[in-house]
This record gives sequence, C-alpha cells and structure tokens, in this order.
Amino acid sequence: MSTLTQSQNEAASELKQEQSASASGVQSSLRAWVAKGAKQPMVLETVDLGPLEAEDVEVAVEYCGLCHSDLSVLNNEWGISQFPAILGHEVVGRVTALGPNAKGLEVGQRVGVGWNSGSCMHCQQCMSGSHHLCPQVQATIVGHRGGFATHIRSHWAWTIPLPEKLNFADAGPLLCGGVTVFAPLMMYARPTDRVGIIGIGGLGHMAVKFAAAYGCDVTAFTSSESKFDEARGFGANQVASSRDSAAIKRLGGSFDLLISTVNVPLDWDAMIGTLAPNGRLHVVGVVPEPIPVSASSLIAQQRSISGSPSGSPVAIATMLDFAARHGVAPQTEHFAMSDINEAFARLESGKARYRIVLDADF
Ligand code: NAP
Ligand code: ZN
Repeated sequence: MSTLTQSQNEAASELKQEQSASASGVQSSLRAWVAKGAKQPMVLETVDLGPLEAEDVEVAVEYCGLCHSDLSVLNNEWGISQFPAILGHEVVGRVTALGPNAKGLEVGQRVGVGWNSGSCMHCQQCMSGSHHLCPQVQATIVGHRGGFATHIRSHWAWTIPLPEKLNFADAGPLLCGGVTVFAPLMMYARPTDRVGIIGIGGLGHMAVKFAAAYGCDVTAFTSSESKFDEARGFGANQVASSRDSAAIKRLGGSFDLLISTVNVPLDWDAMIGTLAPNGRLHVVGVVPEPIPVSASSLIAQQRSISGSPSGSPVAIATMLDFAARHGVAPQTEHFAMSDINEAFARLESGKARYRIVLDADF
C-alpha cells in the first residue's frame, strides 16, 4: 500500500505531467492578451492549457494580423463572442509540438492558422473538401484561444504550411482576409471578367491585388478619395466612389462580379444595377442590416447575390501558392503585440493602411 497522502500523490502526478509536457515540447501554459468582456481593453495574462489533443498542433506565434472581425468579436457586434477571449486569427508561427495523431507537419515548420482552427473531419462537407462549411467548424477566436498569444493550438488539417517564397512577417493577413476574397474569385470569376471590389480596407486591397494578378479588369469602389491613387497602385484599372450614387449608376450593366467587403450599408440598388447580365454581387463584409433587393432587378438580367465564409484548408493552401507565385502581399503596418490596444484603436479609426500585423514580443 502506498504511504503517500492524496495531496502528495496529486503533486507527484502534476509534476510528472509537467515533466512529460516539457520533454515533448508541449506548453502547460501560455501568455496571451485576454479580452475579459465586450469593449474591454485586452490585458496580458498567463493561461493554463490542458493536454494537447491527439490531432492538434501547437504553434509558437511570431506574427498575427488584425482583422476587422477581431474588432467585431471584441465589441460583441454579432452576439456570438465568448469571454474571456483570446483574439487573433491571422497567425504565422512555427510548429513546436504535435499531438500523436497529427498528420503532415513537422516540428519547426512555418505554418499559418486562419479564421477556423478545427472541423469534425467526417461530415459530408469535410469529406468533400469544404471543411469551412462543416456544421461543427471551430472558429479560432470564438470558444477557442486565438493568436494574440505566445502559442496557439489548432487541428493539423487547419494548420497550413507556408510556401518558402512568402515574406512570413506579412503573410498573416492572407490566412483570413486573403482567402476570404480569393475563394469567391476562384469560384465565380474568369480572368477575362470585369470585377468590382467594394471597400478598400484589409480585405478589399488584397482583393484588388488578387483580381489584378488573376488577369481581371478591376474597379475599386472606395469611400475615401485619399485611397484612389493607392488602389490604382494595387492594380485597379478604374476607381469609383462607393458613396456617389450618380457615379455608381453611370457604371450600370458593367460587372461580372462585385465583391463587397464593407460592413456598412451602401446604395445596394445602385450597386446591383452595375451588374452585367449573369453578374453576381458576392458579400463577404458583415453588414448588420439586410441588403434590400427587388426580384425584378435579379430576374431580368439573370443576376445573383451570394456570400461565403473564409475558405477551406485547400483554398487557403492554393491561395498561398498563388500569392507566392504572383508576389501578392498585403500592405501592412506593424505594431508590437504589447501595443495591441493601440492597434485595435487604429483599426477602429479607419486609418490603418491597409492591414495591421502584430509582432509577438512576449
Ligand atoms: P477594414 O480593414 O476595416 O475595411 C473595411 C472597409 O469598409 C474600409 O476600409 C472602408 O473602405 C469600408 N468602409 C468602412 N466604413 C465605411 C463607411 N462608413 N462608408 C463606406 N465604406 C466604409 O475591415 P476588413 O478587415 O477588411 O473586414 C471587412 C469586413 O469583412 C468586416 O465586416 C469583417 O468582419 C468581414 N470579414 C468577413 C470574412 C468572411 O469570412 N466572410 C472574413 C474576414 C472579414 P473604403 O475606405 O475604401 O471605403
Ligand atoms: Zn478575419
């Protein structure tokens, strides 16, 4: 019979767990910028981690982009936030540990994690390669610890190897913003198409670059006249005001595809009127208000309206390859992660040009 008391036993087992965790490189805790509640500034804390799940990968974070969705979740604009929250879902880092059933990755490898970090892997959507449409898909920053931290954990299938040719310091924004605009281009555009990008922010400026690299004729719609020249620099052939209904109406019947990245209401009737026959308005920006549309404006010209959430692991990998091959990269402003609250304030002010990336400095 053991002579150890229960508390001695517990202490010995805890020590054993810690030793085995550090021997395999798995962290027992991490440091993270934690949002305690809606609209609260984030504070630096140590967070205990359970054991690494068998199919999960642990990644030491080097860089993490700041997407408007982080701000919307911080402010609980969509009513889905879970606090305390660790935000950040445009992660670049190196694999530090692998669960026993994690596949296809190696310790030390450079990887990225985006909006999602897990899915069931057995439903019809996962089995057909549309993991981002899995009913149980796990968003990285809702009920899961995100990338504004020393480490992040994610399922191996959602931990995407980065092509060597990418500039890793600026690759983070591709993992969410990049794939969110690349996926509809691949689904709905041909290189001969005329494409309009509405809103030239984090997503929109990458959309202009991707559409131009793909060969499309690109029109940038922006509410900021100060962005006109830069939008042309990103590859736009034309620039128009997203707030000038008369100017929008003059473009009637022009576009095969419009991708909207704005999170505010616009003159949707005028925008839909710019679609050519068979044209499509594709929405990725989360506008809280309904988008009004009359049946006749869709029927007569056989137009469509659609939307999409981020992208599948294969879409992310394909987008990264395309970005590396064509030199598509976001235009970034770097902040130290310790200045995270200032970085969120800058994004909220609309002054970011065009995507903020936080450099891990724990
Ligand atoms: P962002 O960098 O803040 O860009 C949003 C752009 O919207 C702004 O740059 C601005 O472009 C335009 N805008 C903002 N306020 C406006 C106003 N009052 N009038 C007209 N235009 C205005 O945000 P982001 O990170 O690109 O994200 C954009 C949206 O996409 C957010 O709603 C985000 O949550 C969502 N999102 C969705 C997915 C998805 O999977 N579907 C993925 C990522 C993000 P101009 O200055 O050019 O007008
Ligand atoms: Zn995002």
